[in-house]
Amino acid sequence: MTGHHPLDQDAVLARFARAVEDGHGVLTDLDQHSGDGDYGDNLRAGVRLAVALAGRGPQRGFGALGEVFLDEVGGTSGPLLGLLFSEIARALSYGSADTAAFAAGARAGLTAIQRVGEAEVGDRTMVDALAPAVTALDRSGYAAAAAAALDGAERTAELAARHGRASYVGERAKGAPDPGAVGVALLFAAVAAVAEP
Ligand code: ADP
Ligand code: MG
Ligand code: MG
Repeated sequence: MTGHHPLDQDAVLARFARAVEDGHGVLTDLDQHSGDGDYGDNLRAGVRLAVALAGRGPQRGFGALGEVFLDEVGGTSGPLLGLLFSEIARALSYGSADTAAFAAGARAGLTAIQRVGEAEVGDRTMVDALAPAVTALDRSGYAAAAAAALDGAERTAELAARHGRASYVGERAKGAPDPGAVGVALLFAAVAAVAEP
């Protein structure tokens, strides 16, 4: 575990953006299954704007993601992810930008998402990937967090939704994972790939 190296935020943004471009079709299909089909578009639009913003100015990767997702990205996921990205950006801006700082930011982001969205673990949302990732990050680092996020996302396939559009289709959402949880798994995979190559 490379605990004390600063995280290269721009490399994370580039890697996450590539994963979102590659995953756009799958994410769209998943949101068609349980929602309104726009999650892939929302996430891709956001990462494209963030890449452009980070390329233009002093804003680093998570700062650009936070600003764009809070201000520009639609859907339920946009502002909620904006909270997560902004909390991570803020935590990384204090001092060392090491694993502990990232973990504190991700935990603050989870708290903010749950304060606003009121989803608990098991409600079939992005929280089902983010909460286990945050726990694993504190204990075991980036690679464990990425594995926990992916596992949490895969497990949402067994869950019926209690929040958001997927709750309208109830039991019919089961069988495929929640798109927002898969998006969070892509984020943590990108972080792990950059931090622990
Ligand atoms: P919309 O449903 O408004 O079209 P998106 O498609 O952009 O929004 O995002 C859908 C994702 O948002 C879901 O897959 C789920 O992970 C997440 N989500 C929905 N409601 C909540 C909530 N209350 N708390 C956390 N995440 C949520
Ligand atoms: Mg949607
Ligand atoms: Mg929508």
